[in-house]
Amino acid sequence: MGVCRYIVGVTGGIGSGKSTVANLFATLGVALVDTDAIAHALTAIEGRAIGAIRSNLGEEFIGNDGALDRAATRTRIFADVNVKLQLEAILHPLIRQEVDNALCSDAVSRTPYAMLVVPLLFESLTYRDRVYETLLIDCPTAVQIERVKLRSGLKADETARIIAAQLPRPVRLQLADAVVWNGGSGATLWPQIEQLHLHYVQNASIAR
Ligand code: ADP
Repeated sequence: MGVCRYIVGVTGGIGSGKSTVANLFATLGVALVDTDAIAHALTAIEGRAIGAIRSNLGEEFIGNDGALDRAATRTRIFADVNVKLQLEAILHPLIRQEVDNALCSDAVSRTPYAMLVVPLLFESLTYRDRVYETLLIDCPTAVQIERVKLRSGLKADETARIIAAQLPRPVRLQLADAVVWNGGSGATLWPQIEQLHLHYVQNASIAR
């Protein structure tokens, strides 16, 4: 087990560009820990959460391949909020464990600082407490909806429902320590990222 690094929490609405921006930081040698990717791995074939989901929620949540049946789960969650709570009760402790292991791993302890990507960072005390500062990826809501439509074919009303479950944009903007504006082309990202990277490297060295 290495030493836990200086951690920057990255957040933003669905389709705002969290993964895109985090991947650009990764090219500068920054370690990424992504809670969505962890949740996905936990519910993939032979994922650590599959056994508990099968025994607590039922075989109907597991697809023929042995992974979580995401479409069936979405339908059941929509019909019954308790299903969502039960699933979260299984997944959240496992995600926290994986996040802590990853943030304190030897590989991460060798990087200048780490980025923890959490869609609901401001809504979750668990992760807010683990990060030293927060970075919001921001773009207009209409752009979020358009990007999600292109990426995953989600309809505007489905995306709007997901957006409504997150803190309103003005509140997020007020809470964030720093903001990357991603309402334009990808080319506008680099200058912002280079500047923030210098700032984080400096803060991480002071905190060491
Ligand atoms: P998030 O992780 O916040 O959900 P992503 O980084 O996955 O968002 O971005 C959502 C989609 O929008 C992806 O398909 C990505 O390639 C695209 N995208 C992100 N930023 C831009 C941009 N500045 N211009 C055009 N497309 C973008």
